[in-house]
Amino acid sequence: MSLVVMKFGGTSVEDPTAINRTASIVAGRVAAGKQTVVVVSAMAKVTDLLLRAAGSAAQGDRTGALAISSRLRARHRDTACALVKTPASASALCNHIEEEFDSLDEILRGLAAILELTPRISDLIVSYGERLSSRMIAAAFVEREIQAAHVDSRTVIITDSQFQKAAPIDALIEKRAEEHLRPLLKDGKVVVMGGFIGSNEEGITTTLGRGGSDFTGALVGGALTADAIEIWTDVDGIMTSDPRVCPDALRVKVISFEEAAELAYFGAKVLHPATILPAVKKSIPVYVLNSRNPSNEGTRIISVAPHCKSPFKSIAVKKKLSIIDVVASRMLMTHGYLKAIFDIFDKHQCPVDMVSTSEVSVSLTVDSNDKLPLIAADLSKLADVNYEGKKALVCLVGEDIRGQSGMAAQVFSAIKHVNVRMISQGASEINMSFMIEEDDADEAVRSLHAAFFKDPDPSIFDVDARKAIVSN
Ligand code: ASP
Ligand code: MG
Repeated sequence: MSLVVMKFGGTSVEDPTAINRTASIVAGRVAAGKQTVVVVSAMAKVTDLLLRAAGSAAQGDRTGALAISSRLRARHRDTACALVKTPASASALCNHIEEEFDSLDEILRGLAAILELTPRISDLIVSYGERLSSRMIAAAFVEREIQAAHVDSRTVIITDSQFQKAAPIDALIEKRAEEHLRPLLKDGKVVVMGGFIGSNEEGITTTLGRGGSDFTGALVGGALTADAIEIWTDVDGIMTSDPRVCPDALRVKVISFEEAAELAYFGAKVLHPATILPAVKKSIPVYVLNSRNPSNEGTRIISVAPHCKSPFKSIAVKKKLSIIDVVASRMLMTHGYLKAIFDIFDKHQCPVDMVSTSEVSVSLTVDSNDKLPLIAADLSKLADVNYEGKKALVCLVGEDIRGQSGMAAQVFSAIKHVNVRMISQGASEINMSFMIEEDDADEAVRSLHAAFFKDPDPSIFDVDARKAIVSN
């Protein structure tokens, strides 16, 4: 019997309408005879609000923190009432919600007295989002005659103790999944659990980092060796470029894990890169699907992508970047020099995206951030430093550029009119990136899209959708 892990993000569970839509998607999988695990995020915006409540409490604003909590309590209570009508289950669920918020309020009051927010307490506070949403959704499923069983993710997702970005311990997760999930699935139950949260071996609550519910989905899928992992979101899948910038963007029907991972860095809205790893290890296909358009096939992410006639699968853009030029004629390339430069970025905990060097200079790109003046001041002890913001990185990804000659010439002739600052082709050989002015980015993407997706391969791209638009 095939096993599917379905992950639904915040917008797929944001209100009773969305939760009903989610329930009917799940009911469809169950009717198709699948063993099903459902992993849910907190309702949309709840994670941000919980963090804000924690921040306010830690600053001594007890009233502000409790006001946020009280609005969240009302939202969960109202949603629960709209979804669950059977008196016994409705009162059990509502009591549970009240108890959870009572305990949250107690923590917030304590925090407002102690005035110190540790990562451990932050994880405890933020965990309420997924704890509440998963309980409520499990009850809503039961109300709709889906045989759902709620499991507290903290009993299964065992992690180390790096609060706010805990690393999963695969062997323990596998053991717990066999103990706590497998029997329920064999018994025909739909397991419902919260994403993002876990616990360390002592049972203290941890989280996997923002956006971590996708990761939970993949971890559970990996632990149970699922046949598929479905990431349900509010877009039709991975596209050839951002449809808001490029109206004739096409859905990519199938893409390799490696390509998706390259793109994930640019489009975290669709998929978190780490999501993919537990699935890759076991070659489990991951589908990105749209809960507002469930009949759409979405994007299938698999270990080895089939051959594609077009060199690229997608064009991504990352804006709000800065470029830093470090110029030193005397010292450059003496040994230890690059290390000295990178040590400075390390000291300021600033990740570097792209690096290019010449005899006398090193250029680096980073996300624009307020530490740049400090970093530049430190760097200027070693060399002359210049930095400039408002840059964008354009990245073309495709397995079929491996070993192809003349690719760069084609790319740059498509954007002849644009001034290119930095070029890089990663060791993975499946991505070509270059840096330009942010103001030129949208136009560059449209020109590249027009050049490389004129005659898209119908086995890889959803060309039917484009035909439908043209004939309308
Ligand atoms: N609720 C968490 C967040 O907003 C995790 C997730 O939704 O993936 O970051
Ligand atoms: Mg997400």
